[in-house]
Order: sequence, then structure tokens, then C-alpha cells
Amino acid sequence: MWVLKIVAELLKKFRDRDLATRILHEIRKFAPGRRVKFMHVCGSHEVTITRFGLRSLLPEWLEVMSGPGCPVCVTHTAEIDESIELATQGYLVTTFGDMFWVPGTQSSLARAKTDGADVRIVYSIEDAIEVARRNPSREVVHVAIGFETTAPTTASELLRKPPKNFSLLVCHRLIPPAMQFLLESGEVALDGFICPGHVSTIIGSKPYEPLSERYKVPQVIAGFEPIDVLLGILMLLKQLREGRREVEIEYTRSVRPRGNVVAQEKMREVFEVVDKRWRGFPVIPKSAFELKREFVDYDARKKFGVLVKESVDFAEGCRCGEVLRGVIHPSECPLFGKACTQEHPMGPCAVTSEGACNVAMKFGKF
Ligand code: SF4
Repeated sequence: MWVLKIVAELLKKFRDRDLATRILHEIRKFAPGRRVKFMHVCGSHEVTITRFGLRSLLPEWLEVMSGPGCPVCVTHTAEIDESIELATQGYLVTTFGDMFWVPGTQSSLARAKTDGADVRIVYSIEDAIEVARRNPSREVVHVAIGFETTAPTTASELLRKPPKNFSLLVCHRLIPPAMQFLLESGEVALDGFICPGHVSTIIGSKPYEPLSERYKVPQVIAGFEPIDVLLGILMLLKQLREGRREVEIEYTRSVRPRGNVVAQEKMREVFEVVDKRWRGFPVIPKSAFELKREFVDYDARKKFGVLVKESVDFAEGCRCGEVLRGVIHPSECPLFGKACTQEHPMGPCAVTSEGACNVAMKFGKF
């Protein structure tokens, strides 16, 4: 049996290599006579692109930038400071692993724990609710972060009415408004977007359509295998050549135009859409979720009246904001690999496994 498995894997590898060679050949044939810049907005895409060295295979006229695709990186410092403040006040705070290490203005949840606060890493919101059930005399606050991919789980758990000693510090963000912000700002001249596969599985392709219509930008929703990303790039180039500006789905094995309507319904039931600051960005209109009034008892901000004074986006010299807006590649930051390393990260992009600086440090420079 294991022999068959190995043979099947080897065959897949050869097939993929052959396919990749053919796609790259097609990509190179374009030669548009100018530089072309695409952006992806997904941490998993950045991992695939850097880990498999895809940038080094692309022609020199073609650039793929990383955008604001890491949910931990774009969670604003003020929100991290809020979670630290709650932990310091004696509430039991649960969080996902990456968030634990991300620096706020002056501290991090990891440092707060070292100083005696009760901060626990969980793998899901279900785990956090279980912590609340097992500690009925404690108030448990879960830091709910993530894009449209994780927000439905938060919504569906809340609809199941968790215990009264459980509440949420909601930090969920929405991807299409950030893409609109980038196009509107014009800070980076973009020729197309590789749209995120996971987020699009939930929201479908429809929410991206106004961007293509209004800003005349091609978009392709791509999966996470190297072949998916290369095919996504090829589809974008074809749109440019044929003068089409629309949303196409490469990741057809998971994404439907209308997405997951059940998940969308749950999000609509629980959240309202609000304007919010992103780390490295100003306030982005209609770019975040907040709990609806019916769920106020589960809203940690309202329940505990947490108040954070001024917050600072990044440590001095850290250019994470420009990395997140696709203005520079991580290795263009003077601190990259010197003052800022995986062991001593100075910004969120170097902390989290989906942060562009961390990925570049782990798998190689650009
Ligand atoms: S390398 Fe470090 S200091 Fe530079 S932008 Fe990335 S996280 Fe910030």
C-alpha cells in the first residue's frame, strides 16, 4: 500500500512540474513591454509564493506584492492594548497563538502573562468557551480575530449562547474594503489582484465585482498550491491582454460565486459592519465587524468599559505598514534580519506565521 502511495506522490510531482513549466512558458510569452504589478491579500498565498520560490521563476517585468493578508498583522495596536489591559485587570484572556506574541504599544499578551496575568492560548473559539465553562467564577474574554474566514465560527458559537461569563473582544476584519482602500489611495499602482481562496469560499466572488467595475482591475480568486497561484497569475495576464477587467475563479474546487450563504447569514445575524482602523492603515470605511446590540452581553468592550489611551502603530524604524500596503517588500526594511529577526521580532509582520516578514525570514529573502 505504501509503495502505491509513494508512486502516486511521485507521479503527482512530475505532473505538477510539467504543468508549472507549461504555465511559466505561457506567462513569459506575454512580455507586455512594461512592468506589471499584482498583489495578493492572503498570508497563505505569501507562504506558497515564498516557500516554493515562485517569485524567482517569474519574468523580471512581473512583480507580485504581498498586501494586508495577515489578520494578526492588521489588528490595530489599540485592540492589542485593550486585550492586555483586560488581562492586567484580572480577566482571563484567551487568544490564538500568534496574537500572544504580537507587540502592542508597550507590551504584549506574552509579557502580560510573564507579569502574572492569566492569558491562555487556545486553538478555537470552542476551546475558549470550554475554558469559560470550566471556570464559572471567572470572566473569560476571547480575542476574536480573523477575516471572513473565521468570523462565521465566532458568529455561530455566539448563536449557541455560550455561558454568561464568556465575552468577546471582536477584532474581525473584512477584505474587500481594504482592497478598495488600496485602489482608492493609489499609493501602489496595481494591475490586478490575486484574491484570497479561504475568504472567498465564504463570501464568494460577488463582493469583488464592484472593484473590477469601478477601478477596472482584473481579479482572480486562486487556491494555495503553487500551480493555483501560477495559474491565477496567468489568468490575470490574459485579462490584461484581452482588455477584460472582471472577477474569475481559479479555485473552483472550493469557491462558488455566491459563497457559503449559511455562513454569511450567521455573520449577518450577529455582526454589524463598522469603519475601523487597521494597523498600518487609517480608518477604512465598512471594514470590520462589531457585535450587534442584541449581543451586548457578550461584548467585552461594553461589558468592562475597557479604555485604551494613545496607541502607537509600530516600533521606531519598523516599516510593517508599508509592507502591509504593498509599498515595499520585507527585505527593503533596513531592520530586516538585523535588528528584527524571528527570535526578536520588532513588528507584527515578523511575528506571525502568515506575516510577510516572518515568511521571508523563514523561507528566504525576496
Ligand atoms: S522586518 Fe521587522 S522591523 Fe522591518 S517591517 Fe518587517 S517586522 Fe517591521
